[in-house]
Amino acid sequence: MTALLEVEDLKVAYGKIEAVKGISFSVEEGQVVTLIGTNGAGKTTTLRTLSGLLKPSSGKISFAGQPLATVPAHKIVAMGLAHSPEGRRIFPRLTIMENLQLGAFLRRDQAAVDKDMQRAYELFPILGERRKQAAGTLSGGEQQMLAMGRALMSQPKLLMLDEPSMGLSPIMMQKIMSTINELKAQGTTILLVEQNAQAALSLADQGHVMEVGSIVLSGTGEDLMHDESVRKAYLGED
Ligand code: ATP
Repeated sequence: MTALLEVEDLKVAYGKIEAVKGISFSVEEGQVVTLIGTNGAGKTTTLRTLSGLLKPSSGKISFAGQPLATVPAHKIVAMGLAHSPEGRRIFPRLTIMENLQLGAFLRRDQAAVDKDMQRAYELFPILGERRKQAAGTLSGGEQQMLAMGRALMSQPKLLMLDEPSMGLSPIMMQKIMSTINELKAQGTTILLVEQNAQAALSLADQGHVMEVGSIVLSGTGEDLMHDESVRKAYLGED
């Protein structure tokens, strides 16, 4: 069986700076795969390239059996790849409902869209309670929920989450991570980028450690969590 997403020797550069230096990994349907690593490792660049926002300098990306490298971003969403970006990028003056609706901009069946909106409210009740309020009034963690809810509104085959725990309190972070677990239990395929290695590895089937543009270590979430070099570098142990 071929994987839902296959990345092969992907290279991405900003001018002369090569930010991603030939990485390969895959995501099987139903899996949670995580890319961990410190600031500047190239994780965000990788996700932005998969979304079609950056062009790779070389390498192959295949998604649901189709090559992605030359497909424009809006078509990539239509193919089933959704991206909840770093920093959330919600629209603060629009209501929560309007932000969610924007995630479904390619869909024509409003009844099905409304049903998915209900599902987002079930997943994140606070979004339902405040659906008519401006999204800018939400706390950071709640905005993260909205960004995830919005990405889910495109009914993605693969949900890419860029640092969902960034800047959140420990309680809010736990809530976000348990929601990712819930989505996983429902069968959602997820590519998760995180600096919080502990949280990400504890729910990932597969993990890859990135350092300055390369994958330096790969394994199951469980294996990486017990790997001595990972524990020292990313889990704060000496
Ligand atoms: P972070 O957690 O900070 O987002 P990251 O692992 O996601 O880190 P990237 O944001 O992908 O890393 O950055 C990889 C490298 O590319 C870094 O050296 C960064 O400075 C560089 N870079 C990122 N964006 C640009 C840009 N627009 N122009 C030039 N260089 C960039």
